[in-house]
Amino acid sequence: MSECKCFDEVLAKVANKLRGRIPESESASFKADWQNKTIVFGEEELTTKIGLPISYEFQKIKKSGEPHKNLTKDSINVFMNYCPFCGTSLKEEPSQ
Ligand SMILES: [Zn+2]
Repeated sequence: MSECKCFDEVLAKVANKLRGRIPESESASFKADWQNKTIVFGEEELTTKIGLPISYEFQKIKKSGEPHKNLTKDSINVFMNYCPFCGTSLKEEPSQ
């Protein structure tokens, strides 16, 4: 798989900037990471990918036909085919 390092590089740059904005005494506890990181099971290895989240909600109906009081809410991640920073294909290339 030919994957670029943009996500790691962008995260490192942004984290450095943000760390610089807080007092040094507090920067030891500073952590930053991408949201919506998902472990992907490939054929031979585990990789982590960043997904674009889509949230959804709907009203479940009880067996009695009555709607539930609260909405059922959840979200899924959609993976990008190309890197949004450099345009490199993020799809796994078929192994031969
Ligand atoms: Zn890239």
